[in-house]
Amino acid sequence: VPELPEVEAVTRNLRAAAPWARIVAAGQWRPTSAENLSRAVGDTLTGVARRGKHILLALQSGATLEVHLRMTGHLLVLPDARFRGERARVWLDLEDGRAVVLDDPRALGRVKLWPAGANPCPGLGPEANTPDFSEQYLQSALHGSKRPIKLALLDQSLVAGLGNIYAAEALFQAAIHPARPAGRLAAPRLRRLHRSIVGVLELALDSAIRAYGRPGGFSKGENFPLAVYGRAGEPCPRCGALVRRIAQGGRSTYYCPRCQR
Ligand SMILES: [Zn+2]
Repeated sequence: VPELPEVEAVTRNLRAAAPWARIVAAGQWRPTSAENLSRAVGDTLTGVARRGKHILLALQSGATLEVHLRMTGHLLVLPDARFRGERARVWLDLEDGRAVVLDDPRALGRVKLWPAGANPCPGLGPEANTPDFSEQYLQSALHGSKRPIKLALLDQSLVAGLGNIYAAEALFQAAIHPARPAGRLAAPRLRRLHRSIVGVLELALDSAIRAYGRPGGFSKGENFPLAVYGRAGEPCPRCGALVRRIAQGGRSTYYCPRCQR
């Protein structure tokens, strides 16, 4: 599942494809794949940004195309629009012959055109890879919270871009049990958690840039060495105890019962 590092890598690749030509046609696989897409025709892309796990394509008119990759989505520029594959769910054909395509085997990704002045991602917290997400910020954001720390970290209004995989990995790095109440972490442990989040995301971004940089590259950062995520029943790389899986908020959490307290 694309989280901040993967979405950032996709965003950077798109940015490298500028300058953009006018959008001459737009299409979608199903009516639910995109919302108000036809309004983008005749407009021109002016920039690409990322906010949390969303990709924001700015248009000259002031409108924004918001893209959410969800599980298996990849947004890329095809040198020739005629070679759009069968997994293309949403496409924007450009006047210069290229196309911006949402390639998505599971077809869960979504595109939405927002009018000028609208905020496509309201309520998002600071980006996990920026100075706004500081140790002090994390401390005040978690203060008094009784929520399990893992669930707090997945809350996009608390910190934007962190998802199930890297939250689990950061908690492992910080040796913190995922069910520990978020507001009860002592300052040294919070410091370690903050450092772990930043460090895991940095490594994952490097890995995602390599993975998505390959021609036709489509991946979910598979180069990133996962210590606990998806490894239930396997030995912890640090102590050898068996990694456990529990459900939190309807999703799987992986952790080492010996290292993480
Ligand atoms: Zn362990």
